[in-house]
Amino acid sequence: MTENEKEFLQLHSKITKAKSLFRKKLKQPLMGISLEDAEKRLKRGAHLVEFRKIGFPEEELLGLFEDFCSVLKGFEFHEVAEVETLKAAVEAGELNLGSLVKEVFSGDPDFLSSLGEHLGVSVDLLTYLGTNLGNPFFEMYAGELEGKVDLTDWLQGHCPLCGSEAAFARLRRDDGKRILWCQFCGTEWGYPRIKCPFCATENQKSLKYIFTEGESRYRVYLCDECKRYMKTIDEREIPEAEKPDLSFENQKTLYLDILAEKDGYRRQKLQETARV
Ligand SMILES: [Zn+2]
Ligand SMILES: [Zn+2]
Repeated sequence: MTENEKEFLQLHSKITKAKSLFRKKLKQPLMGISLEDAEKRLKRGAHLVEFRKIGFPEEELLGLFEDFCSVLKGFEFHEVAEVETLKAAVEAGELNLGSLVKEVFSGDPDFLSSLGEHLGVSVDLLTYLGTNLGNPFFEMYAGELEGKVDLTDWLQGHCPLCGSEAAFARLRRDDGKRILWCQFCGTEWGYPRIKCPFCATENQKSLKYIFTEGESRYRVYLCDECKRYMKTIDEREIPEAEKPDLSFENQKTLYLDILAEKDGYRRQKLQETARV
C-alpha cells in the first residue's frame, strides 16, 4: 500500500467511525411498508423507499457535518480552505445540508456544479459530503429490511431499496457472480455479468472490460450502447482474508474513473431534460 493509500484509508476509517457513532443515535424509522407489500413491489421491479420524499433533519445533519469537517481538516485530500468555506456557508444558512443530500442522491450534476461555483468549492467535495451525510439514514432503512426480503429475483441495475444506480460492483469470490452495490444504502444484489446495468443491453459486441496493467483485481466494464461504465473488484484476485469495503474501493479508484472518462464513458447519466 502506498503512503497516499494509507492516508486515504485512515481518512476513510475516521469518516466511517463518525457515521457509525451518528447512526447509533438515530431513531429507527418505520418503513411504512409491510413485508408483504415490499415483496410485491420488488416483484414488479419497483424499489422500496422513496427517499426524495423523506425529510432529513437539519439539526442532526449539522452535528455529523461538523464531525466530518474536523476529520477532513487533518488530511490533505481536500483543501482546508474549501472545508472552511463550506462551514461558513452552512453557518450563514447559504447551504442546507438536507438539500445537499437530496441533490447528491438525485444525481443532478448541473445543480452541484452551479452550487460549487457559487460557493467556491469543488463538486467532488460536495458529492463526498452529500453521500456520507446521507449514508447513516439510508443504511438505517436498509438495515431494517436486511435478510427479510428476498432479492434474488431483483433483476434491475438500480438499487432495490432506494432506486439509486449501482455505483460499484464485485465479482464474488465463490462463483465469479457479479454483485452490484449501492453507495447510498450499501445494499447489494446480483446482476448478470454480460448485461449493462444502465441500459440493460445484452449485446456482447457492445460490452467489454478494461483493466490497468499489473492490477488484475480491478476491472472497468464498459458499454458502447449507453457509454456508461462500472468499476468492479474481482474478489478472486485478492487474498482470501481480505474482504473489500466497496465504499473505500470506490473512492480509492478515482484513477479508473479518469481512465474511463478519457475514453468517452460517463459516470453519470445525461440529464433527462435536454436543454436548447
Ligand atoms: Zn440503495
Ligand atoms: Zn449500457
